[in-house]
Amino acid sequence: MKKIAVFTSGGDSPGMNACLRAVVRTAVHHNIEVYGIRFGYEGMIDGDLVRMNAKSVANIIHRGGTILKTARSKRFLTLEGRTLAKATLEKNGIEGVVAIGGDGTFRGAVEFSKICAVPFVGCPGTIDNDLLGTDITIGYDTALNTVVEAVDKIRDTAESHSRVFVVEVMGRDSGLLALYGGIGVGAEGILIPESSQDLGNLVERLRQSRSDKHSKIILVAEGDETGGAMNVGQLIGEHFPDLDVRISVLGHIQRGGAPSCMERVNASRMGHAAVEALMQGRKQEMIGIKNNQVSFTPFEKAVKEHIVPDAGLLRMMEVLAH
Ligand code: ATP
Repeated sequence: MKKIAVFTSGGDSPGMNACLRAVVRTAVHHNIEVYGIRFGYEGMIDGDLVRMNAKSVANIIHRGGTILKTARSKRFLTLEGRTLAKATLEKNGIEGVVAIGGDGTFRGAVEFSKICAVPFVGCPGTIDNDLLGTDITIGYDTALNTVVEAVDKIRDTAESHSRVFVVEVMGRDSGLLALYGGIGVGAEGILIPESSQDLGNLVERLRQSRSDKHSKIILVAEGDETGGAMNVGQLIGEHFPDLDVRISVLGHIQRGGAPSCMERVNASRMGHAAVEALMQGRKQEMIGIKNNQVSFTPFEKAVKEHIVPDAGLLRMMEVLAH
Protein backbone atom coordinates (compact mmCIF):
# COMPACT_ATOMS: atom_id res chain seq x y z
CA MET A 1 0.00 0.00 0.00
CA LYS A 2 1.54 3.27 -1.15
CA LYS A 3 -1.19 5.90 -0.92
CA ILE A 4 -4.07 6.27 1.50
CA ALA A 5 -6.63 8.94 2.39
CA VAL A 6 -8.32 9.84 5.65
CA PHE A 7 -11.43 11.91 6.38
CA THR A 8 -13.72 12.92 9.21
CA SER A 9 -17.48 12.80 8.66
CA GLY A 10 -20.85 13.34 10.33
CA GLY A 11 -21.00 15.10 13.69
CA ASP A 12 -17.60 16.15 14.99
CA SER A 13 -16.38 14.78 18.29
CA PRO A 14 -13.45 15.52 20.61
CA GLY A 15 -10.58 13.16 19.83
CA MET A 16 -11.04 13.12 16.05
CA ASN A 17 -7.86 15.18 15.74
CA ALA A 18 -5.92 12.74 17.93
CA CYS A 19 -7.13 9.89 15.71
CA LEU A 20 -6.19 11.79 12.56
CA ARG A 21 -2.74 12.47 13.96
CA ALA A 22 -2.26 8.74 14.63
CA VAL A 23 -3.38 7.82 11.11
CA VAL A 24 -1.03 10.31 9.47
CA ARG A 25 2.00 9.55 11.65
CA THR A 26 1.54 5.77 11.30
CA ALA A 27 1.29 6.11 7.52
CA VAL A 28 4.41 8.30 7.44
CA HIS A 29 6.22 5.74 9.60
CA HIS A 30 5.45 3.06 7.00
CA ASN A 31 6.39 5.30 4.05
CA ILE A 32 2.81 5.52 2.87
CA GLU A 33 1.67 8.77 1.23
CA VAL A 34 -1.31 10.13 3.07
CA TYR A 35 -3.99 12.58 1.92
CA GLY A 36 -6.61 14.31 4.01
CA ILE A 37 -10.03 14.65 2.42
CA ARG A 38 -11.68 17.84 3.71
CA PHE A 39 -15.38 18.07 4.63
CA GLY A 40 -16.11 14.34 4.69
CA TYR A 41 -17.92 12.77 1.75
CA GLU A 42 -18.52 16.25 0.31
CA GLY A 43 -14.77 16.67 -0.16
CA MET A 44 -14.52 13.19 -1.65
CA ILE A 45 -17.09 14.21 -4.27
CA ASP A 46 -15.39 17.57 -4.96
CA GLY A 47 -11.83 16.25 -4.95
CA ASP A 48 -10.87 18.40 -1.95
CA LEU A 49 -7.68 16.52 -1.01
CA VAL A 50 -4.61 17.82 0.83
CA ARG A 51 -1.29 16.04 1.13
CA MET A 52 -0.44 15.50 4.79
CA ASN A 53 2.80 14.85 6.59
CA ALA A 54 4.01 14.51 10.17
CA LYS A 55 4.09 18.29 10.54
CA SER A 56 0.50 18.80 9.36
CA VAL A 57 -0.79 17.03 12.45
CA ALA A 58 1.55 18.69 14.94
CA ASN A 59 -0.08 20.30 17.96
CA ILE A 60 -3.56 18.93 17.41
CA ILE A 61 -3.76 16.00 19.84
CA HIS A 62 -5.30 18.27 22.47
CA ARG A 63 -7.74 20.14 20.24
CA GLY A 64 -11.47 19.45 19.89
CA GLY A 65 -13.21 19.52 16.52
CA THR A 66 -11.45 18.30 13.40
CA ILE A 67 -8.81 20.16 11.40
CA LEU A 68 -10.04 18.32 8.29
CA LYS A 69 -13.54 19.76 8.85
CA THR A 70 -16.61 17.60 8.57
CA ALA A 71 -19.95 17.61 6.80
CA ARG A 72 -23.19 15.78 6.28
CA SER A 73 -23.40 15.12 2.54
CA LYS A 74 -26.76 14.87 0.80
CA ARG A 75 -25.00 14.32 -2.51
CA PHE A 76 -23.27 11.16 -1.24
CA LEU A 77 -26.71 9.66 -0.63
CA THR A 78 -27.16 9.63 -4.43
CA LEU A 79 -25.51 7.27 -6.88
CA GLU A 80 -24.37 10.28 -8.88
CA GLY A 81 -22.53 11.69 -5.87
CA ARG A 82 -20.92 8.38 -5.01
CA THR A 83 -19.79 7.95 -8.63
CA LEU A 84 -18.02 11.33 -8.45
CA ALA A 85 -16.40 10.28 -5.16
CA LYS A 86 -15.17 7.07 -6.78
CA ALA A 87 -13.63 9.09 -9.61
CA THR A 88 -11.77 11.25 -7.06
CA LEU A 89 -10.21 8.22 -5.36
CA GLU A 90 -9.26 6.63 -8.66
CA LYS A 91 -7.85 9.83 -10.14
CA ASN A 92 -5.62 10.30 -7.09
CA GLY A 93 -4.52 6.66 -6.96
CA ILE A 94 -5.88 6.14 -3.42
CA GLU A 95 -5.45 2.50 -2.38
CA GLY A 96 -7.11 2.62 1.03
CA VAL A 97 -9.26 4.98 3.10
CA VAL A 98 -9.66 5.59 6.84
CA ALA A 99 -13.11 6.97 7.67
CA ILE A 100 -13.48 8.65 11.07
CA GLY A 101 -17.18 9.05 11.84
CA GLY A 102 -20.37 7.57 13.20
CA ASP A 103 -22.91 5.01 12.03
CA GLY A 104 -24.04 7.12 9.06
CA THR A 105 -20.47 7.39 7.82
CA PHE A 106 -20.09 3.60 7.94
CA ARG A 107 -23.47 3.07 6.26
CA GLY A 108 -22.17 5.33 3.51
CA ALA A 109 -19.01 3.21 3.25
CA VAL A 110 -21.09 0.04 2.88
CA GLU A 111 -23.17 1.62 0.10
CA PHE A 112 -20.01 2.96 -1.56
CA SER A 113 -18.37 -0.48 -1.59
CA LYS A 114 -21.06 -1.61 -4.05
CA ILE A 115 -19.54 0.63 -6.74
CA CYS A 116 -15.96 1.17 -5.55
CA ALA A 117 -13.38 -1.48 -4.66
CA VAL A 118 -11.04 0.81 -2.69
CA PRO A 119 -10.85 -0.69 0.83
CA PHE A 120 -12.25 1.37 3.70
CA VAL A 121 -11.68 0.91 7.43
CA GLY A 122 -13.36 3.05 10.05
CA CYS A 123 -12.63 4.63 13.42
CA PRO A 124 -15.76 5.31 15.49
CA GLY A 125 -15.89 9.08 15.98
CA THR A 126 -19.14 10.02 17.69
CA ILE A 127 -20.13 11.31 21.12
CA ASP A 128 -23.08 8.88 21.16
CA ASN A 129 -21.13 5.66 21.91
CA ASP A 130 -23.80 3.82 19.96
CA LEU A 131 -21.75 1.52 17.73
CA LEU A 132 -21.66 -2.20 18.25
CA GLY A 133 -18.14 -3.65 18.43
CA THR A 134 -16.42 -1.09 20.62
CA ASP A 135 -16.69 -0.36 24.31
CA ILE A 136 -16.07 3.31 23.68
CA THR A 137 -16.31 5.67 20.71
CA ILE A 138 -14.05 8.67 20.14
CA GLY A 139 -15.70 11.66 21.81
CA TYR A 140 -17.94 9.90 24.31
CA ASP A 141 -15.71 10.21 27.36
CA THR A 142 -15.10 13.92 26.80
CA ALA A 143 -18.78 14.62 26.12
CA LEU A 144 -19.69 12.80 29.33
CA ASN A 145 -17.23 14.91 31.30
CA THR A 146 -18.68 18.06 29.71
CA VAL A 147 -22.17 16.99 30.77
CA VAL A 148 -21.01 16.30 34.32
CA GLU A 149 -19.14 19.59 34.59
CA ALA A 150 -22.15 21.57 33.33
CA VAL A 151 -24.71 19.78 35.48
CA ASP A 152 -22.55 20.08 38.60
CA LYS A 153 -22.78 23.84 38.09
CA ILE A 154 -26.52 23.64 37.59
CA ARG A 155 -26.76 21.63 40.82
CA ASP A 156 -25.14 24.47 42.77
CA THR A 157 -27.78 26.98 41.73
CA ALA A 158 -30.62 24.43 41.90
CA GLU A 159 -29.68 23.63 45.49
CA SER A 160 -29.47 27.30 46.47
CA HIS A 161 -32.93 28.08 45.07
CA SER A 162 -34.56 24.70 45.84
CA ARG A 163 -35.37 24.14 42.19
CA VAL A 164 -36.00 21.21 39.90
CA PHE A 165 -33.86 21.33 36.76
CA VAL A 166 -34.69 19.31 33.70
CA VAL A 167 -31.51 19.10 31.65
CA GLU A 168 -31.54 17.92 28.05
CA VAL A 169 -28.44 16.18 26.74
CA MET A 170 -27.58 14.96 23.24
CA GLY A 171 -28.59 11.51 22.01
CA ARG A 172 -31.14 11.22 19.21
CA ASP A 173 -31.35 7.44 19.39
CA SER A 174 -29.02 6.63 22.23
CA GLY A 175 -29.51 7.42 25.90
CA LEU A 176 -26.00 6.51 27.00
CA LEU A 177 -24.86 10.12 27.55
CA ALA A 178 -27.95 10.81 29.66
CA LEU A 179 -27.64 7.54 31.57
CA TYR A 180 -23.95 7.71 32.46
CA GLY A 181 -23.99 11.50 32.85
CA GLY A 182 -27.03 11.20 35.11
CA ILE A 183 -25.40 8.61 37.31
CA GLY A 184 -22.26 10.75 37.41
CA VAL A 185 -24.12 13.81 38.71
CA GLY A 186 -26.33 11.90 41.12
CA ALA A 187 -29.50 12.74 39.15
CA GLU A 188 -32.93 12.14 40.63
CA GLY A 189 -34.30 11.05 37.26
CA ILE A 190 -33.04 9.90 33.87
CA LEU A 191 -35.22 9.63 30.76
CA ILE A 192 -33.78 7.76 27.79
CA PRO A 193 -35.25 6.48 24.51
CA GLU A 194 -34.36 2.87 25.34
CA SER A 195 -36.74 2.83 28.29
CA SER A 196 -40.36 3.57 27.36
CA GLN A 197 -42.37 3.64 30.58
CA ASP A 198 -40.25 6.04 32.53
CA LEU A 199 -42.28 9.25 32.82
CA GLY A 200 -45.03 7.93 35.10
CA ASN A 201 -42.37 6.27 37.16
CA LEU A 202 -40.48 9.57 37.44
CA VAL A 203 -43.57 11.47 38.61
CA GLU A 204 -44.24 8.80 41.22
CA ARG A 205 -40.67 8.88 42.47
CA LEU A 206 -40.70 12.68 42.68
CA ARG A 207 -43.87 12.37 44.75
CA GLN A 208 -42.16 9.96 47.12
CA SER A 209 -38.79 11.67 47.29
CA ARG A 210 -37.36 12.81 50.60
CA SER A 211 -38.99 15.99 51.84
CA ASP A 212 -35.64 17.44 52.93
CA LYS A 213 -34.21 17.34 49.40
CA HIS A 214 -33.69 20.87 48.12
CA SER A 215 -32.73 20.32 44.49
CA LYS A 216 -33.67 17.74 41.91
CA ILE A 217 -31.95 17.11 38.61
CA ILE A 218 -33.63 15.19 35.78
CA LEU A 219 -31.54 14.31 32.73
CA VAL A 220 -33.44 13.79 29.47
CA ALA A 221 -31.89 12.43 26.28
CA GLU A 222 -33.00 14.57 23.32
CA GLY A 223 -34.42 11.49 21.58
CA ASP A 224 -36.55 10.36 24.51
CA GLU A 225 -40.16 9.70 23.50
CA THR A 226 -41.34 12.44 25.89
CA GLY A 227 -40.06 14.92 23.30
CA GLY A 228 -37.31 16.58 25.31
CA ALA A 229 -36.75 18.79 28.34
CA MET A 230 -39.44 21.40 27.58
CA ASN A 231 -42.20 18.79 27.55
CA VAL A 232 -40.90 17.04 30.63
CA GLY A 233 -40.57 20.33 32.53
CA GLN A 234 -44.12 21.28 31.62
CA LEU A 235 -45.46 17.93 32.73
CA ILE A 236 -43.65 18.04 36.06
CA GLY A 237 -45.00 21.58 36.55
CA GLU A 238 -48.55 20.31 35.94
CA HIS A 239 -48.17 17.48 38.47
CA PHE A 240 -46.35 19.60 41.06
CA PRO A 241 -47.54 23.22 40.85
CA ASP A 242 -45.56 24.08 44.00
CA LEU A 243 -42.21 23.09 42.50
CA ASP A 244 -40.00 25.70 40.81
CA VAL A 245 -39.07 23.88 37.58
CA ARG A 246 -36.37 25.15 35.21
CA ILE A 247 -35.12 23.85 31.87
CA SER A 248 -31.59 23.75 30.53
CA VAL A 249 -30.63 22.40 27.11
CA LEU A 250 -26.87 21.75 27.06
CA GLY A 251 -26.66 21.66 23.26
CA HIS A 252 -23.46 21.86 21.26
CA ILE A 253 -21.08 22.44 24.16
CA GLN A 254 -21.23 18.63 24.40
CA ARG A 255 -19.45 18.29 21.06
CA GLY A 256 -16.58 20.66 21.75
CA GLY A 257 -13.64 21.01 24.08
CA ALA A 258 -10.26 19.42 24.61
CA PRO A 259 -10.43 15.62 24.52
CA SER A 260 -9.88 13.81 27.82
CA CYS A 261 -6.71 11.80 28.26
CA MET A 262 -8.57 8.48 27.77
CA GLU A 263 -10.04 9.88 24.56
CA ARG A 264 -6.60 10.79 23.24
CA VAL A 265 -5.20 7.37 24.10
CA ASN A 266 -8.14 5.46 22.57
CA ALA A 267 -8.22 7.66 19.47
CA SER A 268 -4.47 7.18 18.99
CA ARG A 269 -4.79 3.40 19.32
CA MET A 270 -7.65 3.25 16.84
CA GLY A 271 -6.00 5.52 14.26
CA HIS A 272 -2.75 3.57 14.47
CA ALA A 273 -4.58 0.24 14.16
CA ALA A 274 -6.61 1.52 11.19
CA VAL A 275 -3.53 2.08 9.03
CA GLU A 276 -2.03 -1.26 10.01
CA ALA A 277 -5.37 -2.92 9.24
CA LEU A 278 -5.32 -1.48 5.71
CA MET A 279 -1.73 -2.70 5.30
CA GLN A 280 -2.86 -6.19 6.33
CA GLY A 281 -5.56 -6.17 3.65
CA ARG A 282 -8.51 -5.64 5.99
CA LYS A 283 -11.51 -3.74 4.63
CA GLN A 284 -15.09 -2.74 5.44
CA GLU A 285 -14.35 -3.05 9.14
CA MET A 286 -14.60 -0.69 12.09
CA ILE A 287 -11.72 -0.56 14.50
CA GLY A 288 -12.82 -0.60 18.13
CA ILE A 289 -11.53 -1.23 21.60
CA LYS A 290 -13.10 -4.10 23.48
CA ASN A 291 -11.83 -5.24 26.87
CA ASN A 292 -8.84 -2.98 26.32
CA GLN A 293 -7.88 -4.80 23.09
CA VAL A 294 -8.11 -3.46 19.55
CA SER A 295 -11.05 -5.17 17.81
CA PHE A 296 -12.47 -5.36 14.28
CA THR A 297 -16.17 -5.39 13.46
CA PRO A 298 -17.66 -5.44 9.94
CA PHE A 299 -19.32 -2.08 9.19
CA GLU A 300 -22.63 -3.81 8.53
CA LYS A 301 -22.63 -5.34 11.99
CA ALA A 302 -21.36 -2.22 13.77
CA VAL A 303 -24.28 -0.11 12.48
CA LYS A 304 -26.96 -2.78 12.66
CA GLU A 305 -27.98 -2.35 16.26
CA HIS A 306 -27.41 0.21 18.92
CA ILE A 307 -25.84 -0.73 22.20
CA VAL A 308 -28.70 -1.28 24.65
CA PRO A 309 -27.92 0.27 28.02
CA ASP A 310 -28.03 -2.02 31.02
CA ALA A 311 -31.49 -1.59 32.59
CA GLY A 312 -29.90 -2.39 35.94
CA LEU A 313 -28.12 0.96 35.84
CA LEU A 314 -31.43 2.83 35.80
CA ARG A 315 -32.66 0.79 38.76
CA MET A 316 -29.41 1.51 40.59
CA MET A 317 -29.78 5.26 39.93
CA GLU A 318 -33.27 5.15 41.48
CA VAL A 319 -31.89 3.51 44.64
CA LEU A 320 -28.96 5.90 44.92
CA ALA A 321 -31.06 9.01 44.23
CA HIS A 322 -33.34 8.55 47.20
P1 ATP B 1 -22.92 11.18 14.15
O1 ATP B 1 -23.15 9.85 14.83
O2 ATP B 1 -22.04 12.05 14.93
O3 ATP B 1 -24.20 11.84 13.69
P2 ATP B 1 -22.61 10.04 11.52
O4 ATP B 1 -21.44 9.53 10.79
O5 ATP B 1 -23.66 9.05 11.92
O6 ATP B 1 -22.09 10.87 12.79
P3 ATP B 1 -24.38 11.09 9.47
O7 ATP B 1 -24.67 12.47 9.05
O8 ATP B 1 -25.51 10.21 9.87
O9 ATP B 1 -23.30 11.20 10.66
O10 ATP B 1 -23.60 10.35 8.28
C1 ATP B 1 -22.50 10.98 7.64
C2 ATP B 1 -22.70 10.97 6.15
O11 ATP B 1 -22.65 9.60 5.67
C3 ATP B 1 -24.04 11.48 5.67
O12 ATP B 1 -24.08 12.89 5.62
C4 ATP B 1 -24.13 10.86 4.28
O13 ATP B 1 -23.41 11.61 3.34
C5 ATP B 1 -23.41 9.51 4.48
N1 ATP B 1 -24.41 8.42 4.59
C6 ATP B 1 -25.13 8.08 5.67
N2 ATP B 1 -25.97 7.06 5.41
C7 ATP B 1 -25.76 6.74 4.10
C8 ATP B 1 -26.32 5.78 3.19
N3 ATP B 1 -27.26 4.90 3.57
N4 ATP B 1 -25.85 5.75 1.93
C9 ATP B 1 -24.89 6.61 1.50
N5 ATP B 1 -24.34 7.55 2.31
C10 ATP B 1 -24.75 7.62 3.57
